[in-house]
Amino acid sequence: MSTKPRLARKSLAEGSASLVLREMKIEGPRVDPEDIATRKGIVVQPKPDSIDGVSGMLVKAGDQFGIMYATNIPSKGFQKFCIAHELGHYCIDGHSDALLSNGAHYSQAGFRSSDPFEQEADYFAAALLMPELTFRKEMNRHDPGLTCVEELRKACETSLTATAIRYSGLTRDGVAVILSTGATIEWCFMSEGLKEAKGVLIRQVVAGQPADQGGIRANDVVVSVDGTAVEGPRDLQRIISSTPVGQSVKISLMREGKEQQVAVTVGAYQTAPRVPRRLVPPAPGPRQPSPQPPR
Ligand SMILES: [Zn+2]
Repeated sequence: MSTKPRLARKSLAEGSASLVLREMKIEGPRVDPEDIATRKGIVVQPKPDSIDGVSGMLVKAGDQFGIMYATNIPSKGFQKFCIAHELGHYCIDGHSDALLSNGAHYSQAGFRSSDPFEQEADYFAAALLMPELTFRKEMNRHDPGLTCVEELRKACETSLTATAIRYSGLTRDGVAVILSTGATIEWCFMSEGLKEAKGVLIRQVVAGQPADQGGIRANDVVVSVDGTAVEGPRDLQRIISSTPVGQSVKISLMREGKEQQVAVTVGAYQTAPRVPRRLVPPAPGPRQPSPQPPR
C-alpha cells in the first residue's frame, strides 16, 4: 500500500492531469470530466443525497471503477470539479492503492481538506478542467483581476473558487485568493508573483511634491529606480539620497497588477543632510489649554 505523503505533491498531480489531456488530445477551454471517465471505462453517476458532507466517491468492485458526485450544490462547475477530483484519485500514482483498500473512498473536494491525498486530487481537478496553455491564452486576453477570473470561469465552465486558485497558480501578477469565515482565514493561495514581491508600497503621496508631479499614486509599489531593483524602503532611500537634486530618475512600479514607468525629478527634500536624531532638540508641544474649573 502507498504511504500518505506529508505534503501534497502539486506538480505530480498537475503533471498527471496534463498527461490525461495529452493522451486524449483535449485542449479546452471546456473539458468534460464525465466524458474522460467514460472513455476510461469508469461509470459516473450522481450521488444519492443521503450521504452528507461528501463531495463524491470513487468505488472499485473487481476491476470496475465507478465515480459518484454530489448534486446538492447546484453548480455545474462544482459538479464537474467533484468528478475530476475522483478522476484524480484514479489517475495519480498510488492513490487507488492507498484509498480503495475497502472498495470505496469518500471525498471532500474543493480545496477544503488538509489531507494531502485530497489536495492532490484537487490540484489534478483544477489542472484537468483548466488546461494550462488555453487558460494562459484566455488569461492574457483580459486585464488582471476578479473580472478576468469571472471570464475564465465562464470560458472553462468551472467553479469560481477553483478558477481563482488556478489563476493564482498561473498568473505572473501578485494575487492572493483567501477564504475566510468570520475573522478566521481558512486558507490562502498566493501567486508566485506575490511570494516574490519586492518593492516599496507607497501609502501616501503629498500633493505638489516631486513624487506627485511625476505621477506616483498611493498604493503604487516601487520595484526599481533607473533599473536598480528596490527590495525595501532602505534601498529606495539609499538610491534617492545618492541622486543629485534636479536629476530625473525612471521609476518602475506596479499599479493595479500592471507594471508602469514614471519619471520623477529628485527634489531637495530627499537629499537634505539629515541631522542625527539625538542632536535635534525636542519640539515644543502644542500649548495645552488650562483646565477650566467646572461651572
Ligand atoms: Zn478524495
